[in-house]
Amino acid sequence: MTQARRKQIALAMIAALACLLAAIAFLSAVNTRTSTWSYSRLIDQALQGRVKTFEIDGEVGIATDRDGRQYAVQLPANPSVLASTLASDGVEVAFGDSQAIAALQRVLPYLLVLPVMGLLIFFVFRQVRGQGNQPLMFVRSPAKLVVATPEVTFVHVAGADEAKQELAEIVEFLKDPARFAELGARIPKGVLLAGPPGTGKTLLSKAVAGEAGVPFFSASGSEFVELFVGVGAGRVRDLFVQAKKSSPCIVFVDEIDAVGRQRRIGFGGAHDEREQTLNQLLVEMDGFDTNTHVIVIAATNRPDVLDPALLRPGRFDRHVRLDLPEVRGRREILDVHARNKPLEAAVDLDVLARQTPGFSGADLANLINEAAILAARANRKVIGMEELEEAIARVVAGPEKKSRRISEREKEVIAYHEVGHALVMKALPLCDPVHKVSIISRGMALGWTLSLPEEDRYLVSKEELKQQIAGIMGGRAAEEIVFGDVTSGAENDIQRATQMARRMVTRWGMGERVGIVLLGHGDGRDVSGSPACSDETAAHIDREVAAIVEQAYQLASSVLGQRRQTLDSVTERLLEVETLRAEELQALVSEAEGPASERPAAG
Ligand code: ADP
Ligand code: ZN
Repeated sequence: MTQARRKQIALAMIAALACLLAAIAFLSAVNTRTSTWSYSRLIDQALQGRVKTFEIDGEVGIATDRDGRQYAVQLPANPSVLASTLASDGVEVAFGDSQAIAALQRVLPYLLVLPVMGLLIFFVFRQVRGQGNQPLMFVRSPAKLVVATPEVTFVHVAGADEAKQELAEIVEFLKDPARFAELGARIPKGVLLAGPPGTGKTLLSKAVAGEAGVPFFSASGSEFVELFVGVGAGRVRDLFVQAKKSSPCIVFVDEIDAVGRQRRIGFGGAHDEREQTLNQLLVEMDGFDTNTHVIVIAATNRPDVLDPALLRPGRFDRHVRLDLPEVRGRREILDVHARNKPLEAAVDLDVLARQTPGFSGADLANLINEAAILAARANRKVIGMEELEEAIARVVAGPEKKSRRISEREKEVIAYHEVGHALVMKALPLCDPVHKVSIISRGMALGWTLSLPEEDRYLVSKEELKQQIAGIMGGRAAEEIVFGDVTSGAENDIQRATQMARRMVTRWGMGERVGIVLLGHGDGRDVSGSPACSDETAAHIDREVAAIVEQAYQLASSVLGQRRQTLDSVTERLLEVETLRAEELQALVSEAEGPASERPAAG
């Protein structure tokens, strides 16, 4: 909770308390007055000359005695007789117009208490709703309406040429719906954008609206499925009411899988809510008439889990895939984001594109931004290659943590571990080339070895995978060879190695005994988490996975065993300089082993 929020809540609490106190004070003031006299008592007191004034006000009269105390008296049907009687007894009789005031006095306490209650309820709900930064709106507008057409156009989306082509038709339609309607053309209502996070799904959808010059509504599937059942459906309805008013327009639904999962795989309370929301979405889309020019673009990174009902004709029947960019696409994305940033002349974006396989568009945007921040912090006027390379490492592994206190002994273990990775990867021809080795901790990692493929890969062979797993096990193997003992530092390595091995067996049919069948979602389990195979097969899988990792470990050990000298000398150097780049590493290895040992060109 922020400072400002705390202040707000404190203020509201004080206000609430003040209101409450005022209400109590008022009520007690009213109560002093409610002592009553009967009619005969009034006559009696007036006769004795004890009554000073009598105020007639509607059905109630208020007598004030000589001591200033007030008494309420229930009046008879015709108070004028009473009035003249009292007047003859010397009482000042007045006909008050305080009826309204009296009525107000009666309701005022409630009026005061109501806002207090309201405020309390308001805050309770805000708390319940989590961050408390959203207004208290259950049904109204979840969509952030971009009233103006987005500034973004296709120019800002680099690389995704096929996707742009597919969406160009939608742009045409939105620009001039009438032309298509005249020909009776059926225009898609829904487009599904599928692709990993950060590949520009949101960006591309905005660009479609920008190109066509139409408004852009955006909502997220996870926003729909919130606290209360029925809210999501209400929000969908509301969103489409707004959208239809602004037709033609784009409605963008991010994370559609949050509402559109296959219905049988749900569990828990969110299930109902999701189903209602999904149904409402389908109802809305089915209900578009020929004059509704609203196109719904939904984004997901899990198209495989979507409910088939969502993908039926007339709904999200256009599917556009966005993939992680290839080297050319990465180059173009880097261009887009470097466009208005001062780069040093020596910066080669081609090299950068080659060094960043597996990076999404968002990663690349982030990379350039990080580099700009680094340059600014170093008081530089331009961004250099050095900052860009540091930024790559940051995006991959998080920022350096130079402040972390690590003992000399631990440092040595870490250095051997990392050099172990690096040497095994360099020795095995099918491993990715090593870019950097470092013992400066980053993120969760104490040390790291950065290896990146030279080119984008679409297929990996069994042999390649085996060697890569050996590279991952190289760290632990080095620890054992040098110290005769292993540390907990290899946890992440073991996890990665095991995952890869498991995938080899269950997904890619690379096991010896399990055979060539897909076993669930790659981990021997199906989407709902239940085993997709018999216990017997599961046991086989476990054994095969263990065998693959063990073999890889043996391979790494033998590679390092043959290079004991190199292991020592490279580690010594790494401890001095803390980070070794590819060229320095190669020089050290050649020096220790002679140039003959140079890594054969990767196949
Ligand atoms: P997604 O919706 O797929 O998760 P976004 O559209 O939110 O990804 O992308 C996040 C950011 O990454 C964008 O705002 C943009 O800066 C950058 N980006 C992603 N893909 C591209 C691309 N193809 N061209 C240019 N920038 C991109
Ligand atoms: Zn490691």
